[in-house]
Amino acid sequence: MTHYRGRFAPTPSGPLHFGSLVAALASYLDARSARGEWLLRIEDIDPPRCPPGAADTILAQLEAFGLHWNGEVRWQHRRDAAYGEALEQLAGQGLAYPCSCSRKQWREHAIYPGWCRNGVREPGKPVAWRLRSDLGLRPVAWRDRLFGQQRFDPAELGDVVLKRKDGLWAYQLAVVVDDADQQITDVVRGFDLLDNTPWQRQLQHALALPVPRYLHLPLIMGEDGQKLSKQNLAPALPVEDDEVRPLLHHALTALDQAPPQALADAPVSEQLDWAIAAWRADSLRPVPYGVVERH
Ligand code: GLU
Repeated sequence: MTHYRGRFAPTPSGPLHFGSLVAALASYLDARSARGEWLLRIEDIDPPRCPPGAADTILAQLEAFGLHWNGEVRWQHRRDAAYGEALEQLAGQGLAYPCSCSRKQWREHAIYPGWCRNGVREPGKPVAWRLRSDLGLRPVAWRDRLFGQQRFDPAELGDVVLKRKDGLWAYQLAVVVDDADQQITDVVRGFDLLDNTPWQRQLQHALALPVPRYLHLPLIMGEDGQKLSKQNLAPALPVEDDEVRPLLHHALTALDQAPPQALADAPVSEQLDWAIAAWRADSLRPVPYGVVERH
């Protein structure tokens, strides 16, 4: 069996919240229980969205929860050359093309209709780069470890942006290049990314990259019944040990691992040792977890 390599790949657009803790913890436990490595990649490709200090806060939060990563932190802002090479490869194969269209121009369509596929419509204007979804790419199918069989028709996915008009790399390209470069075997991440996976699978196919296994986690809902996110101001994770301990226990509960009540106030290393030994990905249920419901 290939040696397990997992990763946690937060965007430092703000501090981690409970939803991100659940994602970090699940990928950590899945890796450690398989005696694998767990890498940390900071996805800071969009500087305007990443306030100064947010990445440092994330590192401190992970440390406080005892989630220690292997090796050096990977920073995506240093990976320009690798993403550029991937884009060149795709363009050379005729699979990526420049596009001058604005969202406003195609707003009446559900997905971008591919107007620039055979030449930029408005030469001289700034261009984004898109992946052609209409050339030899078969329906994208894979089996998620929790959500089961997935199947997407490229015609419904549209031509995803790989590089934006402002010159910034798009998440889809960067994540695929780095997952392959870091030899990630297992991606464990939030449910909100499940519908990004087909584009990533398309890109892996187009770039002839190995395909990791995917496990998307149950959605974590906030008090208002909305997905917990930075946008709806989910509270930042604490770093003080007396607050960290019960929250770690709560995150294990959210992951359906049924941690013993006696561990609720135990040191993080003790809770994690128990959780690594007890980890069962197949205890997860593909239903939303309400944060308040089980408080
Ligand atoms: N950077 C993405 C986020 O924070 C996650 C990327 C991934 O796990 O693939 O939402």
